Amino acid sequence: MFRKILIANRGEVALRIVRACKEMGVASVAVFSEADRDSLHARMADEAICIGPASSALSYLSMPNIISAALVTGAEAVHPGYGFLAENAAFARACADSGLTFIGPSPDAIERMGDKAVARQTMMAAGVPCVPGSDGVVETSDDALTFAREVGFPVLIKASAGGGGKGMRVATDEKELHANFTAAKTEAAAAFGNDEVYIEKYLARPRHVEMQVLADTHGNAVYLYERDCSVQRRHQKLIEEAPSPALTPELRAEMGAAAMKAVHAVDYVNAGTVEFLLDTDGRFYFMEMNTRVQVEHPVTEQVTGVDIIKEQLRIAAGEPMKHARQEDVHLSGHAIEFRINAEDPLHNFRPHPGKIDVFNPPGGFGVRIDSHMYSGYTVPPYYDSLLAKLIVWGETREEALARARRALDEFIVVGIPTTIPFHQYVVEEEHFQRAEVYTDFVERYATTEDITSFVTGVPVSEKEADE
Ligand code: ADP
Repeated sequence: MFRKILIANRGEVALRIVRACKEMGVASVAVFSEADRDSLHARMADEAICIGPASSALSYLSMPNIISAALVTGAEAVHPGYGFLAENAAFARACADSGLTFIGPSPDAIERMGDKAVARQTMMAAGVPCVPGSDGVVETSDDALTFAREVGFPVLIKASAGGGGKGMRVATDEKELHANFTAAKTEAAAAFGNDEVYIEKYLARPRHVEMQVLADTHGNAVYLYERDCSVQRRHQKLIEEAPSPALTPELRAEMGAAAMKAVHAVDYVNAGTVEFLLDTDGRFYFMEMNTRVQVEHPVTEQVTGVDIIKEQLRIAAGEPMKHARQEDVHLSGHAIEFRINAEDPLHNFRPHPGKIDVFNPPGGFGVRIDSHMYSGYTVPPYYDSLLAKLIVWGETREEALARARRALDEFIVVGIPTTIPFHQYVVEEEHFQRAEVYTDFVERYATTEDITSFVTGVPVSEKEADE
């Protein structure tokens, strides 16, 4: 095992990794920007080193600064967390060139799965069903039209380098296709420095179901079952649960086998997630693979008992993983994660950084909080708005829901608005309670009007009548 590792990230995920290191007897080095001096991840790590100003381009995304920090502190390996440099093949290579172990897959696997158009081709060749669409990158809007006619409208124009729901545009007809093709390319170029796009059929009311995988350098590979992440707003996840209420044991085994094909297709090593869309007829399609640990990994940990971060460290250190055989991985109970963001759900989820006067998270049996918050902390405006993840576990989905309701009611954040009222509304919502949840859930059943009415106690219909 490593003696010391550097964590190239901030916030709750950096803290999550510090905690795993402490339990494993591995020394941890945190990095922080000037805006994160008071951050808990920097305080809890064994050592902390400033890597630049607030702007992430000059700190958390600066490869030379991070690698220098690792070298001067004598770290042997680098854990990238999620976001920032986690899926950057050049960073993984730069680590290797500096004699540092990158805690993640090979640069080659990152590259092949990171380009979504290439990943689609790889998966099609491996015999995994993909959403119908173009074979690879589409160069012109005329070519896009050919594919759109083949698969039928509506279609989705997606950025090959896309992530976090950015660079995606729906087109319902030919006219929209031409306009949105150019718009998507411009948006992709601005967001990812790469304007390549491809076309997929836009599925009506799918569920987002993803498989967590782990593979080590000893030839062991397992899937830790699925997470259902269908509660999304603008293609960004808000609530995730495991197991998916939509999978039968047969479908779960089939999806697991498809995820294993992805692992073998690129000789994948370490933790990864294979994302699928599941249609209402029970057919599933590969969407993309994330070559890193995900925000929602705790729900899998709660239902399998596998500590994914510790497995990542063991795998990177060349040890066999602890849960090496599929028969060793068991599902127990039901877990749901709620993302508590510094966003105002009554005003279109507007980001709302600022000072947190009181932070009083819930506790008790079956409640887990992953958060870097504390009373008196000021949320800086430079980074993402995730404040805390509330993860509840129950023997059944019903128990998990009852526990969620109780935990959300206990959760006190004073000073800035958060997404807690949104979640309080959702756990009471009848479709969510019945697990009839598709990716259009938020726009259909959890609109700003619904949340406002829930918070104020004024029914939506009365409010409309007043206006
Ligand atoms: P990103 O990498 O930006 O997160 P994904 O490819 O993972 O993008 O897609 C994010 C979300 O967008 C999915 O969870 C789903 O809700 C929606 N989506 C993506 N592709 C399709 C599709 N072909 N049809 C319908 N919805 C889609």
